[in-house]
Amino acid sequence: MTFGPNDMVKADCGDCKGCSDCCHGMGDSITLDPYDIVRLKRVTGKTFEQMIGFEIQLGMKGYLILPYLRMKEQGNCCSFLTEEGRCAIHAERPGICRLFPLGRVYENGAIRYFLQGDECKNKARTKIKVKKWVQVPEGKEYEDFVLNWHAFLERTSEAFSSLSAEELRERNMAFLRAFYFRSYTDFFCEISEQMKGESNG
Ligand code: SF4
Ligand code: SF4
Repeated sequence: MTFGPNDMVKADCGDCKGCSDCCHGMGDSITLDPYDIVRLKRVTGKTFEQMIGFEIQLGMKGYLILPYLRMKEQGNCCSFLTEEGRCAIHAERPGICRLFPLGRVYENGAIRYFLQGDECKNKARTKIKVKKWVQVPEGKEYEDFVLNWHAFLERTSEAFSSLSAEELRERNMAFLRAFYFRSYTDFFCEISEQMKGESNG
């Protein structure tokens, strides 16, 4: 069952109250988009390269190399989780973390949401309107970016599917340089142009 922005859903965890389950054992599932990396650069003061192997890791998703939040060996938890079980970068946490316990799917060119009920064991969750739960300061610009980025990744992965192993490595390095290693001055505007340029090239 999926939900739209005006639906009520039992997602409000009431500040999680000491639970940090969704910051543990997440493997490579918290994939990071370029805006997540902009936020992480801002909060850590590090470059993309400097975060690799520490806060983030690179891995294959389909035919693309994408960054994801790294789980530390010790405690199998995110490196941003404090000893008190809180997120040290709450205001700048990645998009997937912002949604939890909701997840996101893409249907007919729109974002829909689903409740990851089994992953979140907090049974005291209360109902909240989806758009209130997922609200981000950047609003519509961010939502448009998420939709466009998802479609762009699908197209790029499809285009990479017929490459040889060597070509795949080279094209993925170019992809990472174009979208993740670089800096942005006006993120939403510049990444939109970059996606258009890559699609037309
Ligand atoms: S960034 Fe914050 S919310 Fe996301 S997994 Fe790490 S500690 Fe948890
Ligand atoms: S598992 Fe649920 S209650 Fe626990 S931290 Fe995550 S969202 Fe909050």
